[in-house]
Amino acid sequence: MSEIVNTFEAQQQGRPTGPLVCGYEVIIGFETHAQLSTASKIFSRASTAFGAEPNTQACAVDLALPGTLPVMNKGAVERAIEFGLAVGSHIAPRSIFARKNYFYPDLPKGYQISQFEIPVVQGGAVEFFMPEVKGVAEKKSVRLVRAHLEEDAGKSLHEDFIGQTGIDLNRAGTPLLEIVTEPDMRSSSEAVAYARELHKIVTWIGICDGNMQEGSFRCDANVSVRKPGAALGTRREIKNLNSFKFMQQAIDYEVRWQIEQIEDGHAIEQATVLFNPDTGETRAMRTKEDAADYRYFPDPDLPPLCISEQWIQQIRDLMSELPRVMAQRFVRDYGLPEYDATTLTQSKAMAAYFEDAAKSCGQAKLVSNWIMGEVSRRLNSEDIGIAAAPVTSAQLAVLIGRIADGTVSNNAARQVFDTLWSGEGAEVDAIIEAKGLKQMNDTGALEKIVEEVISANAKNVAEFKAGNEKALNALVGQIMKASKGKANPQQVNDLLRSKLNT
Ligand code: ADP
Ligand code: MG
Repeated sequence: MSEIVNTFEAQQQGRPTGPLVCGYEVIIGFETHAQLSTASKIFSRASTAFGAEPNTQACAVDLALPGTLPVMNKGAVERAIEFGLAVGSHIAPRSIFARKNYFYPDLPKGYQISQFEIPVVQGGAVEFFMPEVKGVAEKKSVRLVRAHLEEDAGKSLHEDFIGQTGIDLNRAGTPLLEIVTEPDMRSSSEAVAYARELHKIVTWIGICDGNMQEGSFRCDANVSVRKPGAALGTRREIKNLNSFKFMQQAIDYEVRWQIEQIEDGHAIEQATVLFNPDTGETRAMRTKEDAADYRYFPDPDLPPLCISEQWIQQIRDLMSELPRVMAQRFVRDYGLPEYDATTLTQSKAMAAYFEDAAKSCGQAKLVSNWIMGEVSRRLNSEDIGIAAAPVTSAQLAVLIGRIADGTVSNNAARQVFDTLWSGEGAEVDAIIEAKGLKQMNDTGALEKIVEEVISANAKNVAEFKAGNEKALNALVGQIMKASKGKANPQQVNDLLRSKLNT
């Protein structure tokens, strides 16, 4: 069973809880834009579908043409509330939309509607495990500052216009939930683990399709470094990280760059930077604006967003079981360690696969070991999700049943599993039969082999009797070989010891 370490308290007391890089502590905070999965825009009826002909899906409201008025999309608010409930936040009974004013080609109306002073979702936390290292799983908690509703801008297209830039406004007005953390992360791996967990939550509750290539889930990483115990350093914000791999590379590069600057006697200047996956480097895009530069003011076209307790309750009642609640149930009902339960609730599909198999064979811990071991290894190496696994939960359950009732050894079961996976066989018992993998349960036959091996290996026997435990392994090996791997290793061990000690 894995050991669980919780470093949250140490971190809140300002002690380093992540690996130091050249003597510096790494501090990271995230701002994530999750595109909400509504059919229409946040303040208009235009479609949010991805991939339409440029500029066919932005309507007069999205462009704020004179005479138009925005109308709040109820579905976007519901999704924000669902998110807040999923991460234990306070849902503000009254929140305000503001105009964030800036000029950019993809924002011809000159302002973005966002929430500034009073966001709809306040506080909460995302909890997760770091990948297990040597049997120790570190439990992390990243506090959320807020999550607010806002509209997306359009998009500049630099590639298709022979040296000119095109503007596609289809994305203008697409609903976003911007999720902001405290600067609670202490390494690039922790940042990636947080982003994965957040991605899991938003896709699990179905408020976002999570498609990172299409930009439905975009992370900005705020990164600074400091000597342990010092005040927070100046941060630089890496924009639009849309793959977990780039996220880690970009943060690692940025950390090294900042440390070099400081060691060379330069101060870090607050800036927004872009990561270039081709060079693996980050580069400053602009020095960072302050909130004052945006001239925020309440949007006069939109009334305050009011959310009643009844509405929140209705949404709560309709939400399906959350991953962490399901994990707690797995611990309670199946006696699983917390680490297993958390890993198995990575996705709804994996959780269902586990539960189906555990229910039908009654061996929850064995099922968990197999899913986290053999099954995950194959899924990862083939880069597929569990929904596409060639071995069904029903097949795995039968196989595990055969291990539990002593029909096959673990090793033999792995051969059966490979056969199932490759599609060369579909029926567990038929494969065991055809490959002759049945464990030898006939003690008489086994005893005969044991005796033969003992009399043929006098040297090993003498060594064992003289106190060399390793000599026993040699004998076990011989017996396993003679039985063509069908003997039960534990049984062989017991038999040998009892014969050699008499
Ligand atoms: P702004 O309003 O300018 O975007 P915020 O205070 O909202 O600034 O912080 C934005 C993000 O930066 C948050 O996720 C926060 O946790 C993170 N952050 C703030 N200070 C630091 C720092 N010194 N190092 C790393 N991240 C930081
Ligand atoms: Mg911000």
